[in-house]
Amino acid sequence: MIIIMKTNAPDEQIHAVEEKLKAMGLQPHLSRGVERTVIGAIGDERQVDQESLEALHGVERVVRVMKPYKFVARESHGADSVINVGGIPIGGRTIQIIAGPCSVETPEQMESAAAGVAAAGCRLMRGGAFKPRTSPYAFQGVGVEGLVMLKDAAARHGLPIVTELMDVRMLDTFLQYGVDVIQIGTRNMQNFDLLKEVGRTHTPVILKRGMSATISEWLMAAEYVAAGGNHNIIFCERGVRSFEDAYRNMLDVTAVPVLKRETHLPVVIDPSHAGGKAWMVPALSRAAIAAGADGLLVEMHPRPEEAWSDADQALSPQELIDLMAQLRGIAGVIGRAL
Ligand code: PEP
Ligand code: MN
Repeated sequence: MIIIMKTNAPDEQIHAVEEKLKAMGLQPHLSRGVERTVIGAIGDERQVDQESLEALHGVERVVRVMKPYKFVARESHGADSVINVGGIPIGGRTIQIIAGPCSVETPEQMESAAAGVAAAGCRLMRGGAFKPRTSPYAFQGVGVEGLVMLKDAAARHGLPIVTELMDVRMLDTFLQYGVDVIQIGTRNMQNFDLLKEVGRTHTPVILKRGMSATISEWLMAAEYVAAGGNHNIIFCERGVRSFEDAYRNMLDVTAVPVLKRETHLPVVIDPSHAGGKAWMVPALSRAAIAAGADGLLVEMHPRPEEAWSDADQALSPQELIDLMAQLRGIAGVIGRAL
């Protein structure tokens, strides 16, 4: 069960609801969002009198949520949530394509990349300054300097930035450098301490699916972030491990309609880490948008053959322009805008 408080309900009213829940034998869990507070009630709800909760001051609505994930469940919020990233909506009618290189490399590379992202009509930029690499001897990312390079180049083209946070010790630095969307990578989907800390901020989060995670594990991971009060969560399917070795990961397009049913939060697809080859990216992207994804997180490098990481899967600037044209056609057919 969740209790949705009215916008700006004062602390006394929130406290009164918590006390009432405890008296009913339920454990209250407070999630303070930017505008409103939602109280999750954990425990046996069968004996609970919903009307007496609804009668309390400051309560807007009481919703019974049978799922183990409360705040992210579709039942808790019927309409699709739209996440506002610096004025750019993610979710809702508009499809957003987030593009940029796998890694931040140099100021020149970032400037060409940002120019390419903007020229293609994409409205957000990605780039990793801290990279989770399989080998400890592989390029690990340029670090904090990369945040500056990414932010500066993107700002010149009016693009909010998306970048991966791997270590909780870097969270304050990310906030200080104005990271607009924190990406949690596949390898950290169940790093619960990281999720809890990110949940204490109000910065939007892209939560990638663990490469071997079930959809319910993924939803529970998102619940960790939401439980802390951060409801600005975007799911990102990036392919899962399978028996197949003809491509990097198996894109689970089926996850899109399942998530759309289970959660009110937006869902994007990363076709680059799924296919692992640039030539697969257009086909996977078309499938993603046709299946109802709210956008893509796609790798594009000004000179793909020279990329310091994931060179095989990066689109060129021209390929990104061509992809956008194809996606505009699909968006029109399904009644969405791009
Ligand atoms: C990335 O986006 O560059 C990345 C490392 O992705 P993933 O966590 O999906 O492997
Ligand atoms: Mn990558």
